[in-house]
Amino acid sequence: MHWGLECGDGWFSILDTLCSSIQRRVDRQYSSQVVFGQVKEKVSALRIYSSGGDEYTDALIEFAEQLSMKTCEVCGRMDETVGRNKHGWIKTTCVQHSGDVSDFYFNNPETASISSIKTPAV
Ligand SMILES: [Zn+2]
Repeated sequence: MHWGLECGDGWFSILDTLCSSIQRRVDRQYSSQVVFGQVKEKVSALRIYSSGGDEYTDALIEFAEQLSMKTCEVCGRMDETVGRNKHGWIKTTCVQHSGDVSDFYFNNPETASISSIKTPAV
């Protein structure tokens, strides 16, 4: 993978489950090999750029990306809280880790102002 993993450890289980599910389909020769080019956090969600696979593996990836928007990127806890800093950047975290958002984006936490907001009900 050219760019590596650019997201928090809290999404490890999502990525681990995604990879094993994709590989199961590839091993059964239902689809071509899937190659991840980049995995990162973007606008509070997991974003996976890949090649290969089929509609099934594309759907698995989309499901993982959607699940990340309900999963704390720091600890993996499922919550509906999103941290937002004063620049408007958002990050999916639980309440406990909403204060860690500054650590992700700023070397000096004093320059960031964090408030927790609820995501809109779907
Ligand atoms: Zn958390």
